[in-house]
Amino acid sequence: MKILISACLLGEDVRYDGENSSIAYGANFTFAQKELFMDILCDNEIYSFCPEVSGGLPIPREPSEIVSLTKPFIIKNKEGEDVTINFLLGAKNALDLCQKENITIALLKANSPSCGNKNIYDGSFSGNLIPGEGITAKLLNENGIKIFNEKELLELSKFLKMKQVI
Ligand code: SF4
Repeated sequence: MKILISACLLGEDVRYDGENSSIAYGANFTFAQKELFMDILCDNEIYSFCPEVSGGLPIPREPSEIVSLTKPFIIKNKEGEDVTINFLLGAKNALDLCQKENITIALLKANSPSCGNKNIYDGSFSGNLIPGEGITAKLLNENGIKIFNEKELLELSKFLKMKQVI
């Protein structure tokens, strides 16, 4: 299967702070989780993608949070600058890639204002998580792409096996 994966989860230094969120090297992941992740990488066709960089934001950059979750979306960085257009462009580029390559599954970084599939920070830059989707996750989800985050590797693995049986 073809899978779109947040570039930072693959170890690319694309995060706002110039670091990554590597699953393979991350201290927060067990050996079993790393092994499962490596199996997923080996058995599937992987497309690495960072919506924020694709949308024109630099590395490093100020962290951003979603201020308005409903249309019109508003995303601002910690300095108060409006970066909405960059987030929208990154989301559109992610969807374009998925549609061009017929990618129907994504593994995206949890809690990100772009990639988060279940929770996002509340826009106050105080570390509070609220239910909601990042801008890219939302657009992909609305277009039928099945999204998992890095805490759902087991679910992703089961889903892939089920797809292979069908
Ligand atoms: S936008 Fe997504 S891929 Fe890029 S650094 Fe943030 S979480 Fe990772």
